[in-house]
Order: sequence, then C-alpha cells, then structure tokens
Amino acid sequence: MPAAPVPDMPYRGRFAPTPSGPLHLGSLVTALASYLAARHAGGAWLLRVDDIDGPRCRPEHADTILQQLDAHGLHWDEAVRYQSQHEGDYQAAFDTLRDQGRCYRCICTRARLAETSQPGVDGPVYAGTCRDTGHARVDSAWRLRVPHQAIALDDRIHGRIERDLAHDIGDFVIRRADGRIGYQLASVVDEQQQGITDLVRGADLIGSSLRQKYLMQHFGFAVPGFLHIPVLLDGFGNKLSKQNHATPIHGAAAAQNLIRGLNLLGQAAFAADWHGRVDEILARAVRNWNPALIPRRLGLPA
Ligand SMILES: [Zn+2]
Repeated sequence: MPAAPVPDMPYRGRFAPTPSGPLHLGSLVTALASYLAARHAGGAWLLRVDDIDGPRCRPEHADTILQQLDAHGLHWDEAVRYQSQHEGDYQAAFDTLRDQGRCYRCICTRARLAETSQPGVDGPVYAGTCRDTGHARVDSAWRLRVPHQAIALDDRIHGRIERDLAHDIGDFVIRRADGRIGYQLASVVDEQQQGITDLVRGADLIGSSLRQKYLMQHFGFAVPGFLHIPVLLDGFGNKLSKQNHATPIHGAAAAQNLIRGLNLLGQAAFAADWHGRVDEILARAVRNWNPALIPRRLGLPA
C-alpha cells in the first residue's frame, strides 16, 4: 500500500529588497509575483531588508520601499527583518564553515579577478588562484571551496536547472574583505531562520539560488521551492535596475502600476475589467494566480 502523503509545510514566501534606491517597475513585478504566489497558496508573505551591502544601502530607501509596498496593497506578515540586526548569526555560520576547513582567504583584486575568471552560464567563475596558497592577510575575503559535483534545482517555470559546482560556479565569496558576511551565506541563514518554504525571485539570481542550495544542504537546512521570473528588460534589452536609473513607482498610481505588473506577468488576460481599487485588483489576482502564464521574456516597448 502506498504511504499516506506527508502534508506539505505551510507556504512561507518573502520579498527581500536591497535599500539602495526606491522600487521601480522591475522590483514591483518581483514583489508582486512573490506576494501572489504566497497568498494564492494561503501562506504567509514576509519582508526582509537586505541592508548589509555597504554604502549603497541607506535607511531612508528602506522606509521608502516599505511605504511603496504599503501603497500598492502589498501588506506583509510579521515584523520586517533587517539583515543588519542579524550579523552575529551570519558570522556564526561563517565560523562553522571556517572551523570545518571549508573556506580559504582570497586576496585577488578586482583587476586580477577580471583577468583570471572564466565566463560561466551564471557569470564569471573564479579560477581558484588563492585556493592552495594559505594567505594570512587579515583584510582578505574568504571563499567557500566547492567540489566537482552536480547541483540541481527544480524551478516551477524553467524545470530542472543543473550545473557542476566547480566548473560552472566556482569557489564563491562568503565573507568579504571588509569583514561583512557575503550575500549568499547571509541569505541562507535568513531563509532558515524565517522558515521560508518558497523563493520567488528574478532569473538573474539563478546562480545565487544554486550556491544557496549547496550551502543549505551543507548545513542540513530545508531547501525551499524555486520560481525564477524573467528579468524585466527595457526597450533596449537592458535589465531595468536602480543602476540604470529606472523610474521609481508612485503610490498615487498604485492601481495602474499593479495592472501593468499583472499584464507583464501574463496574469491579466482572463480579466475583462481590471478597474477598481488596489485591494480588489489584488484579491482577483490572488484567486487567479497561475505561474504557467508568465512569459519567458518580460520586455517593455522601446
Ligand atoms: Zn583569490
């Protein structure tokens, strides 16, 4: 007789913006997708502010992002988690890896990395220059040593994504030269502490998802489900980002912004009438959420 199915964990999703500027349409689309997926599953949607990325992060941007989400009806559950308040936990995770002999100091400069790294599917692959040199300089970064081993994840849109850790990803930074814990390791601690069961994020983070899955497995943490949505491109095929001055979204146009986001995510076709208040638009979008309708490419007209 087949075993009784194990009940799934209650869905817990999150949105984790970096407060280096206000939300633009691209980041709204990501927030919206993760919100709809969580609410459609009857789950919780949490908010985390990834504010340990040095001087680019500013508290006023975090406040603006919270206000923008609120104005768009994207109300989160539980208290906002600020990464800057959990640095001790990230450091403890790093200490574990260092005590296990899993990482080493890397003194490569940016120029040296640019010169020696190989192009990979998900970005440059570190050449392993400092792997066996035993550097002792205190102001160096630390990299995690990764083995030649397959790593795979099953994405809800893209299906199975598989890479070789050493060949396609390479040893990656887990502690930066300025002493801060790197994004990959900090995120893994966050997902575990917040009990996140599902990650909805941009496809530009597929390489990060694979690194994080490897770390989660190493620590014995539960691995969440993944859904990577295509990155929103401008009319010239460039990623819409704070760096290329994408226009901030305004709460006064919240309903229009949501409809625009839903259209981009392929979620508006079934609705004849998308007028109405923000909460009505969202309630309808939650009921009808279908990730299979998300287009493979999200582009704005030129
Ligand atoms: Zn190095």
